[in-house]
Amino acid sequence: MSYPDEFFAIAPHCSLKRLEEPYLYDIENDELYELSEEAYQFLLKCLQGERVSVRKEDEEFIQYCLSENLIAPTETPIKREEVPHASPIPSLRYLEFQITDRCNLRCRHCYIGECLHRNIPFEKILRVLKEFEEIQGLRLLLSGGEPLLHPHFWKINDVLRDYAFRSVLLSNGILITREVARRLHVHEVQVSLDGMKEGHESIRGEGTFEKVLEAVDHLQEADIRVSIATMVHQKNLKEFDALASLIQSKNIGEWNVDVPCISGRMEESRDLWVSPSEAGPYLRYGYGGGLHSSEKNATCGAHLCAILPNGDVAKCGLFSREPVGRIDEGLRVCWERVPRIRLKELTCNCSEIEECRGGCRYRAKLQGDLFQPDLFQCYARGVLKGGERNDDQKGC
Ligand code: SF4
Ligand code: SF4
Repeated sequence: MSYPDEFFAIAPHCSLKRLEEPYLYDIENDELYELSEEAYQFLLKCLQGERVSVRKEDEEFIQYCLSENLIAPTETPIKREEVPHASPIPSLRYLEFQITDRCNLRCRHCYIGECLHRNIPFEKILRVLKEFEEIQGLRLLLSGGEPLLHPHFWKINDVLRDYAFRSVLLSNGILITREVARRLHVHEVQVSLDGMKEGHESIRGEGTFEKVLEAVDHLQEADIRVSIATMVHQKNLKEFDALASLIQSKNIGEWNVDVPCISGRMEESRDLWVSPSEAGPYLRYGYGGGLHSSEKNATCGAHLCAILPNGDVAKCGLFSREPVGRIDEGLRVCWERVPRIRLKELTCNCSEIEECRGGCRYRAKLQGDLFQPDLFQCYARGVLKGGERNDDQKGC
């Protein structure tokens, strides 16, 4: 196929990103395409509404972009306002933004603990969203508490599609009626489902199980992608096969399975805690999702940080007691202070390291040492087998 000199527009659901390498990000489908510098310059011209001449050697690339619906030919130039600035290195790709600590539930395993009715003010939220876009962010995780309870949630919802990043709402699902699902502008909702009826309600309260399933249906009817998050605890261990079938029957593309750390309300619910050797087989049930390819030598959270409901910024929500700054100082400034832990600093020594990256540093710290293996991952990946280590029962 040959092309005359013409205009191409980058699809509205895509954005050029200048991270460690140049990329085209498909926001809708959460796909990150690495670009050569030449391809990036070609797409930059498209972004700026300039006419491009198509050389023979560009045809294959253009054909691929057209087939993936990443660009489209246009008769007149379409100029977009956004200008890709270079991101800091490492890039901040994922931002967990706890906009409120208010919640309609009192889950027994909640690491956030008691609600102090703290909300990030709306104007500050807008400033953070703008900064996250400028810093070349990919995925905003709007979290809480229950983020729907932020007093200005609907004003926040109204502006989310103005930014060149993906927005994911992390919710307990209880408030998601058909009407709420229809009004949401997020790209994805992750709802918490901590077992079948008995297991789920034993930690989240009576009547919550059916409500979560209804929320999933309402969201899917409204054409919003749904993912599920599940915590492994003592009351749901026998329910995992039934839960896996239920999740499959709902056609869910991503299931995150994790374990609660002994923190917040979990301090008083230690009876729910599962040891690494018990939890290992259940952690293998999760599938899909995950992060985009990242720097080879980095441990968990290499491209993530969290903003807490009091305005502190931390390495992630679990490291809330070790903030690196306040959001008023600016996202970039705080991000540059987040401590980095290199893979080679860990005492891990196994063939799984490329994939596992040492698991969770917070859990490793609770198990005794920030640089030791995360025993939950060791058991999940079969590197350790039941009862191999006597520190298996150390609190996490
Ligand atoms: S775990 Fe989530 S839903 Fe439950 S109390 Fe904590 S913030 Fe609320
Ligand atoms: S499986 Fe264990 S030892 Fe291996 S990388 Fe993961 S945490 Fe480290």
